[in-house]
Amino acid sequence: MTPRVLPIVALGNPVLRQVGRDLAPAEILSKDVQQLIERMRETMRRAPGVGLAAPQIGLSVNLAVVEDRPENLDDMEPEERAKKDREAVPFHVLVNPRLEVVDAVPIRFFEGCLSLSGFVAVVARARAVRVQALDHRASPVTIDAHGWYARILQHETDHLNGIVYVDRMETRTFMSADDHAVQWAGMPVEIVRGALDASRPLP
Ligand code: ZN
Repeated sequence: MTPRVLPIVALGNPVLRQVGRDLAPAEILSKDVQQLIERMRETMRRAPGVGLAAPQIGLSVNLAVVEDRPENLDDMEPEERAKKDREAVPFHVLVNPRLEVVDAVPIRFFEGCLSLSGFVAVVARARAVRVQALDHRASPVTIDAHGWYARILQHETDHLNGIVYVDRMETRTFMSADDHAVQWAGMPVEIVRGALDASRPLP
């Protein structure tokens, strides 16, 4: 049976602004949390998205799911994939993740969020990170990630700390996803930032 899809909460709901609580190993292995993981996977796939954090389905706990399926990359030009340093990531679960920046060089790309659908903005993210977490079996894992995967991990661990990408975005690049697709698809981010005078300070 396909697990039931959960409603995704939108920006404005205070749960997205709370710091989540860690899960104990026994809780992770419980039937409830195992079922929750299945439902979060289905919700993420249907959305569709490449990550989903528990606060986005209304639960203030430190749990997120991540998956960047190979078919997500099918429509991308090889140059774009290379530029974004994007590779498929098999489905996995992050519980109680702690993120450490390994390479702080800021990489700028447009990103969006299922809790603020229909919009995107440029967000600078660290090039490489290390995440220590527990997996779905409550076993400790260490993940070394770079490029797009590192971006996903930063976005999802932010959610567990009550942080949404709009807190980190270059505000002048905030736009509707439709407009982005029509006007700027495939364009280098630096060109878009220049056209929108993204680094202009407010008077
Ligand atoms: Zn998000």
